[in-house]
Amino acid sequence: MGVPTRADLAGIPDYIIPGRPPGAILLNSNEGSLPPLPAIVEAVARAAAGGNRYPQWSSEDLVARLACALEVPESWVAIGCGSVSLCQQLIQAYCAPGDEVLCAWRSFEAYPVFARVAGVRARTVALDAGHRHDLAAMADAVSPSTRVVFVCNPNNPTGTAVGSRELRDFVARIPGDVLVVLDEAYREFVTDPDVPDGLRLAREHENVAVLRTFSKAYGLAGVRVGYCVAAPAVVSAVNKVAVPFAVSGPAQAAATAALAHTAEVSERCRAVTAERERVRHRLMAAGLSVPASQANFLWLPLGDRSADFAGFCADRAVVVRRFEDEGVRVTVGAREDNDVFVRAAEEYAAAECPN
Ligand code: PMP
Repeated sequence: MGVPTRADLAGIPDYIIPGRPPGAILLNSNEGSLPPLPAIVEAVARAAAGGNRYPQWSSEDLVARLACALEVPESWVAIGCGSVSLCQQLIQAYCAPGDEVLCAWRSFEAYPVFARVAGVRARTVALDAGHRHDLAAMADAVSPSTRVVFVCNPNNPTGTAVGSRELRDFVARIPGDVLVVLDEAYREFVTDPDVPDGLRLAREHENVAVLRTFSKAYGLAGVRVGYCVAAPAVVSAVNKVAVPFAVSGPAQAAATAALAHTAEVSERCRAVTAERERVRHRLMAAGLSVPASQANFLWLPLGDRSADFAGFCADRAVVVRRFEDEGVRVTVGAREDNDVFVRAAEEYAAAECPN
């Protein structure tokens, strides 16, 4: 009969492993389409040559470089094995069984899963009609059990973002003993000047933590480095629950080297955001509804047509990510790959509503 797991594990969904059919165009995981810059690959190779030694305990060199770049003290920065790991660490550090984590829905799927893994209730608040966080409803939903609130800005999977004023009003309404986690995994793709830089809020409120990652804009999803910027008490709590040496030496070296190439990274992000707008306008011209995105992906709220659309794309060797009967998320990739996707979407829309 085997060893029984804890009883509630059966209720926790398995992670959806993204499909990667050979030769397919992968627009399903919000990855960068370009390989890391050569200087970063060299830094990884150099660090791998010292792989017989354990890495730095808390990524001290990287923390120093990030603190300098972000203009915060080193005590304000924690490094994680991807920012997803930091999401889990924050829940572990701040929540005990019976407590509650609050997030929008649909938003990043890891939040409710990590809550349940920690024996914590996940409470969700529906996005508004514009597929954006309903921050007023979220503030209303905070209860005495709420310990952590996630605000994913821009939101995965919808790409929508909240503005400065509404986020400030929201943070002002959250009790000081509740941690607000601003997940800014896609921050570097924001082009709307009204979308706030969470670091400013973190500097002003000791209950605000910001999460960012090297996975998206820096094209290092496979290397696994993310970071948390928050008041020192939050950083030390996050570090306390970390798996020792989870951030490998090559990962630390990659991120440290990447910080010396921010101009190239920004240029890559500009190309992605220009493509995002081009693709969005082509999709809308084909009659599809696509909310404005501030991330490196677009959201098609196709409802019960989502599976059909994703299947239609897959038949044309384009892998997109379907979210049940809600919609499809498509990553902005290389121009020629986006064109293959757009042609598939145009064909789908034309077949659906022939003129
Ligand atoms: N937050 C959000 C909103 C994400 O979409 C992702 C990745 N899909 C992550 C965090 C985690 O990214 P990583 O662990 O690669 O840094």
